[in-house]
Amino acid sequence: MVDNAILGIDVGASGIKGALVDVEKGKLLSERLKLATPKPSTPKAMAETVKHLVQSLDYRGEIIGCGFPSIIKKGVAWSAANIHKSWIGTSVEEVFSQAVGIPVKTINDADAAGLAEAWLGKARDVSGVVILITIGSGLGSAILVNGRLVPNTELGHLYLKGMDEIAERYAANSARKREKLDWKTWGRRFDKYLRHLELLFSPDLFLLGGGISKRFEEFAPFLKCDTPVQPAAFFNNAGLIGAALYASQLVVVE
Ligand code: BGC
Repeated sequence: MVDNAILGIDVGASGIKGALVDVEKGKLLSERLKLATPKPSTPKAMAETVKHLVQSLDYRGEIIGCGFPSIIKKGVAWSAANIHKSWIGTSVEEVFSQAVGIPVKTINDADAAGLAEAWLGKARDVSGVVILITIGSGLGSAILVNGRLVPNTELGHLYLKGMDEIAERYAANSARKREKLDWKTWGRRFDKYLRHLELLFSPDLFLLGGGISKRFEEFAPFLKCDTPVQPAAFFNNAGLIGAALYASQLVVVE
């Protein structure tokens, strides 16, 4: 195994992805495996899936990095918007480490993606404020100020003017699928969300992650906000690359 190889896992509400990552280059060293997130997504069921993933990749390293779709403080989950509520107050690190027999360092999934972009991707060397939004079942956010992460920002949970639901219910990829929206309709909605963030934070750059970031060209024409918007350099792999980076301790997050 390459010295710098660490297993990165990206836990999502619909899929759990994992790959071996070269943390110095941000390159995948194995295939990316994706297993369906169990329903209900309880700690016990998710731990089984993570164990299965680690075994399937035959990983025997000393540490694993995991991005998790929740507020994470010291390895403990403090929210559960799109996963089973019993995660709240549960140590993700303890549950997963016990299941796989290898220490699992855990960070919010969007924060992981932000770290990957700050260290090796498009937010590298960008001074000022970069906001990365992951678009999937929910909307995840990472705010980087001169390359440093402000963790657990949860900007998908803002209310836009006139809406009685949080923004991710309206503008995430799950809303596009649920409501069968065409690119124009969804793109305009998402633009409204970005404009709201623009008003609040005056960012210098928006980066977009999540599976939909590969289809950026489809909705880019409908993004009219003033701030430049780009897909993340690592697209949908930013989360697992960042999780591996976090576990490697090459980056330190306070
Ligand atoms: C969660 C966030 C997460 C995002 C993307 C939101 O519903 O609250 O913690 O980063 O989904 O998975």
